Amino acid sequence: MNSDHAAQVLVIGAGPAGCAAAMTLARAGIDTILVDQSRFPRDKVCGDALIPDALRALDRLGLARELLSAARPLQHMRVFSPNGSHVELDGQLASLPRLRLDNALRGAAVAAGARFLAPLRLARFMESDGTLCGACFKAPGNRAETAIRAELLLLATGAASAAAGTRRHMRT
Ligand SMILES: Cc1cc2nc3c(=O)[nH]c(=O)nc-3n(C[C@H](O)[C@H](O)[C@H](O)COP(=O)(O)OP(=O)(O)OC[C@H]3O[C@@H](n4cnc5c(N)ncnc54)[C@H](O)[C@@H]3O)c2cc1C
Repeated sequence: MNSDHAAQVLVIGAGPAGCAAAMTLARAGIDTILVDQSRFPRDKVCGDALIPDALRALDRLGLARELLSAARPLQHMRVFSPNGSHVELDGQLASLPRLRLDNALRGAAVAAGARFLAPLRLARFMESDGTLCGACFKAPGNRAETAIRAELLLLATGAASAAAGTRRHMRT
């Protein structure tokens, strides 16, 4: 292993879920490491729409005003499924490219005190006496692993959550 880090909480995945968690933990004074497989800013396949739930979540994080100033306000939205059917949404809506949204959320997590490490891709979990105690990551083009130890792991890898044998470790 080429380096070691340690934190109270390790958050894997710096999308909106991981960044919001890392930000909240860091603001509470918890030593937090946030890891992503991508260098930021990075884009993500998305409609880029912020629906009222998302706006409320940004508001709770204290970021709505700043992010909405960069967003395009919308009052109406039509969401299509692959088979062509669609639903209509009305209300206070907005559009902000994920390239900007996710990087702003990551920046807010770092400003709150979380340490951001990237690009590091989850390779495997570390166990001690049958309990998770961290994870090992690989950087692109580097065969050596980076080990990060933590008391608590938070997996926020979105649709990729089946990666690296995570199902075996999931608790409901
Ligand atoms: C086509 C499409 C359109 C969509 N349009 C909208 C929309 O308009 N509005 C909306 O609100 N939602 C939309 N969504 C849903 C939205 O993209 C997700 O709900 C949201 O991205 C989930 O956030 P997340 O943080 O859980 O995961 P993600 O945003 O997927 O973030 C996961 C992060 O984990 C990282 N990661 C993954 N695997 C690893 C690994 N092994 N090691 C390290 N890091 C890893 C990734 O690089 C990524 O940064 C859309 C989804 C799709 C597929």
